[in-house]
Amino acid sequence: MISIDELASYCKRRGFVYPSGEIYGGLSGFYDFGPLGVEMKNRIKQNWWNEFVKNEENIVGLDGSIITNPKVWEVSGHTENFTDPIITCTKCNKEYRADHVIEDVLKISTDGLDVKALNKLIRENKIKCSNCKKEFSNTKVFNLMFETSVGAESENKAYLRPETAQLIFANFKNVYENSRLKLPCGIAQIGKAYRNEIRPRNFLFRVREFEHMELEFFINPNKKNDCPRLQEVEDLEISVYTQEMQEKKLKHKKMSIKECVKKGVMKNKWQAYWNARMCKWYLSLGINPKKLRLRQHLKKELSHYAEDTWDVEYQFSFGWKEIAGNANRGQFDLKQHEQFSKKKMSVMDDDKKVMPYVASEPSLGVERAFLTLIVDAYTQEKERIVLKLSPKIAPVQIAVFPLVNKEELPEKSRQIFELLKNEFQTFYDASGSIGRRYRRQDEIGTPYCVTIDYETMEDNTVTIRDRDSMKQWRENVNELITVLKPRLK
Ligand code: AMP
Repeated sequence: MISIDELASYCKRRGFVYPSGEIYGGLSGFYDFGPLGVEMKNRIKQNWWNEFVKNEENIVGLDGSIITNPKVWEVSGHTENFTDPIITCTKCNKEYRADHVIEDVLKISTDGLDVKALNKLIRENKIKCSNCKKEFSNTKVFNLMFETSVGAESENKAYLRPETAQLIFANFKNVYENSRLKLPCGIAQIGKAYRNEIRPRNFLFRVREFEHMELEFFINPNKKNDCPRLQEVEDLEISVYTQEMQEKKLKHKKMSIKECVKKGVMKNKWQAYWNARMCKWYLSLGINPKKLRLRQHLKKELSHYAEDTWDVEYQFSFGWKEIAGNANRGQFDLKQHEQFSKKKMSVMDDDKKVMPYVASEPSLGVERAFLTLIVDAYTQEKERIVLKLSPKIAPVQIAVFPLVNKEELPEKSRQIFELLKNEFQTFYDASGSIGRRYRRQDEIGTPYCVTIDYETMEDNTVTIRDRDSMKQWRENVNELITVLKPRLK
């Protein structure tokens, strides 16, 4: 598997992702998306939106602001609890995340350990700063929210939002009433989120500015397990890593969603349903199922608001890591906002007033999904690098080439390019040998190349070349859209 550093330099070379402000040395945890990166990112977001909002009857969208009334973050618990453990070197003053340092040095999991336990491990194992080999300070907590001030008066403190979810909760009543929603229903949002991570690392995996794609799914608290849609997904088989398996130091096990529910491993059916939907979304984009698993949070690892949480994890070169989360937030957020805003958050369901219950919150970062999809697609073959991206998210779907830049070939190629670009993400390239042009498209994941040659001028056929098999065949120009459309879905 390609190392994360190699991948970062490949992404820069090919115009996917650049370190932000690189001409001045960059800024850790911030990235800019180049021409191919922005296309791919947009397609990931569009695909997610289609899947989780557009194609759903009872799920609607929202686009909340990045800076909001700071009370929102107080009431949600973020000003108090949205923290990470930090240690500082007593000599060079470099700051580290205590849990990450321990995991790197001792090769153990620190999931769920508190500050005291982390401190103990550092002292007992005499863990020192990797930079200058001196001791660390005691572990402290550090709030991850970026602060700013609003207007000319600097005392008007505000925060850049660390998640999109709270905007959904704060707007819940407006959206529910305007959209005439009925439980069970969902509100989704895609938008920027900011976290002042102590040590961003692994390229796009942990960054300080990212786009969150979140769905809050509200149900009637008295109908927690009334989930008729479970049958749509219950046959999905996936590796599952329960609390119990982790505590007993067992390996994850392949199970169907049906089995997970039956055995009580996934206690809430709606959460089980959305766990499956998150996995299915990744699988629909071509992710290798062997590298995907669902891991349950340990009890001591749960966030302050969560009753149960499942992560979708992917096996990176740096270990199994979360690529999406799904918390059962219960009634925590709406109750908090009702109490502190004095605005009623309850709704009528079956002629009874109820406080909606968030059984499920599928949540992921676009950058992390982007990284996962590129890592998974990157294939080094004997003679070429090929990015086996799903056509659904490939930044270029079809490349059009004139075999040579002579006679009527460029003109005919342009006509075909115009025809295809109305339907697909299409790119025109006339420079270099045809072999090099194919290789360039392989490296950026273009599923099909269409070449116009002298035969085209005689019988109106072109060569289509398949990226993965490298097989070529001829097709009439009039049939091109019909032939390519189903392959690019
Ligand atoms: P959380 O809100 O912490 O449960 O995170 C939900 C999802 O957001 C994760 O599964 C990631 O996909 C994404 N995410 C959270 N923090 C970051 C970060 N610092 N960089 C990139 N993605 C992140």
